Amino acid sequence: MTSSVNLVGSIVSLLSIYLNKSGKYAFSSLLYLGYITFSTTVHTIVFGLTAGFQYYFFNLSGLIMFTNWSKSQKLMGAIIQGVLFISLFFYSINSTPLIELNYSLTIFSHTLNVILNIVGVSNSANYYINIATKSYSSVMNLAMKDYLTNLMNRTSFDEFMDDMFVSRKMNRGNLGILLLDIDHFKNINDTCGHLCGDELLKQFASVLMENIRDGDFAARYGGEEFVIIARIDDEKSLIDFSERIRQHVEKSEFGCSDNYMRISVSIGALFISKDSSIDKNMAIEMTDQLLYQAKSNGRNQVVSKSV
Ligand code: GH3
Ligand code: MG
Ligand code: MG
Repeated sequence: MTSSVNLVGSIVSLLSIYLNKSGKYAFSSLLYLGYITFSTTVHTIVFGLTAGFQYYFFNLSGLIMFTNWSKSQKLMGAIIQGVLFISLFFYSINSTPLIELNYSLTIFSHTLNVILNIVGVSNSANYYINIATKSYSSVMNLAMKDYLTNLMNRTSFDEFMDDMFVSRKMNRGNLGILLLDIDHFKNINDTCGHLCGDELLKQFASVLMENIRDGDFAARYGGEEFVIIARIDDEKSLIDFSERIRQHVEKSEFGCSDNYMRISVSIGALFISKDSSIDKNMAIEMTDQLLYQAKSNGRNQVVSKSV
């Protein structure tokens, strides 16, 4: 009899794995938990408490908590488990098992069931930790990245600046901050449409990523404004770096389908030497003024300053 229960169990387990993979989580859990409950009940009646099958009830209670059933379904499941466990317990201590195992088989069965339960609990814990880790990283990704360009967003920029200015005090390294604003972007949107404008922003972000080095930081500051923070040796290197980006943008074609066009970018670039005592807000404010100057001087240019 127990062999047929185990055979049915293997079939049911395969079926629940299949249902789980095809997205029918609630039904798959019902089938699987239902089978284990049935099998545990049968094995406890047949072999008695000493064989250790009753431990599966504790394991099942944990699983019921995490299945995606409604609260009332979970409560029902937990009540069935509780009632069955208590009934079987009292039944078993007041009756002799249908099949009495000899001493070594009892020890073997007991040990095996304890081990299988520990493995089961560890496996479930690992499964839920994986789900939690994946969810955490996708939430962090949503929170820290700009959904359109996939660059870091303003929040990440603020955090990065905080870290940078704290570590700068420790490392005493030189820094370059670039604020980049696409010229006449409003006209581009008006000419080729907002969706094409979005496409252009993505392509612009790719140009930035192609030009920065490992360890540099690029973010979408807002709208059609971007920011780069780079470790840089001197003001001349910063100007070369900014010019390289400006020229790359100038020489590239941007847009979508039939609407390919040339664009330009204005850049404010601030070189912050390791000896400077400038703070984060002041640095952003000064870079913004440099960008403003680049715009008023006629756009498509780099204006830099060193502090
Ligand atoms: P300037 O040369 O002075 O920078 O001119 P501009 O037209 O680029 O500047 P302005 O700030 O007047 O316009 C920015 C435009 O960017 C206005 C806004 O509609 C557009 N914009 C902001 N965010 C997005 C976006 O996510 N997608 C698209 N397609 N357009 C955006
Ligand atoms: Mg602009
Ligand atoms: Mg702007």
